[in-house]
Amino acid sequence: MARSRQNPSTISSFLLAGGGADLDYAIGDALGVLPVNAPDEVAAIPEVTGLKGPETVQLKTGPAALRSALLTWLDLSTVTPKTLEAWAVEARPEDMQVIDLLRRPDFTPEAQVQVDGLRPLQPRLYSISPSPKTHPGEEHLTVGEVRYQLFGSDRQGGASTYLGERLAPGSMVGVYIQRSAHFHLPEDDTRPLIMIGPGTGIAPLRAFLEERDARGAEGPNWLFFGDQHEACD
Ligand SMILES: Cc1cc2nc3c(=O)[nH]c(=O)nc-3n(C[C@H](O)[C@H](O)[C@H](O)COP(=O)(O)OP(=O)(O)OC[C@H]3O[C@@H](n4cnc5c(N)ncnc54)[C@H](O)[C@@H]3O)c2cc1C
Repeated sequence: MARSRQNPSTISSFLLAGGGADLDYAIGDALGVLPVNAPDEVAAIPEVTGLKGPETVQLKTGPAALRSALLTWLDLSTVTPKTLEAWAVEARPEDMQVIDLLRRPDFTPEAQVQVDGLRPLQPRLYSISPSPKTHPGEEHLTVGEVRYQLFGSDRQGGASTYLGERLAPGSMVGVYIQRSAHFHLPEDDTRPLIMIGPGTGIAPLRAFLEERDARGAEGPNWLFFGDQHEACD
């Protein structure tokens, strides 16, 4: 199996609706992002199932066109026990994803059966990267796009490539704050700070540094950055 590849991190900037007045957060918290699936992944599904997309299916939220359900509501990669049950799959290699199961010969699920086997699309968390003191009303995320090969074809992480590649300037994105219980700056600005951020773990530490700078903190700061693989990172 090919190793996951994280493209060099990109920073996505967001203007918060209403200046972010209704978002109460501290650095160290994360932003939950509601992703939209990749249109080419959605388009690949009718190619293997023969269903074209306007079929109506029932979701927990109500009726929807199959294509729109696949684009915004359903996880197109994770196979769960529910998938196996709904699609009557008995044995499969453990790392098979949804598209691999749909490609099985002689498997032509009806639209509702197809949807019943998929779990809801999950939000993903991204560490808040700027200090609100230096960037009021803005959010920045530091995102490594997840890309890898599986069973001979290119695969991509749903949310990281949504943020890194598919979002056009001016797009609206659904977000929420995920509070962190313990991951915050010390209140005492004279204390020294040692920060270790491998790969995208650098994201919250960027905010820590900005915040210390904005506060005029006198304590020394050490930041260690690392990546996992010498050959590809
Ligand atoms: C508190 C918190 C903060 C975070 N902050 C950041 C951040 O600041 N920046 C950041 O980039 N990320 C961050 N993450 C990670 C982020 O939430 C996502 O998990 C990450 O971006 C991948 O999401 P995705 O939707 O792109 O990938 P997904 O669609 O979720 O795909 C990832 C999945 O792909 C599969 N996969 C990956 N490689 C392979 C392979 N080689 N073979 C087979 N299957 C494979 C695995 O099942 C893996 O779980 C954070 C996570 C948490 C919990």
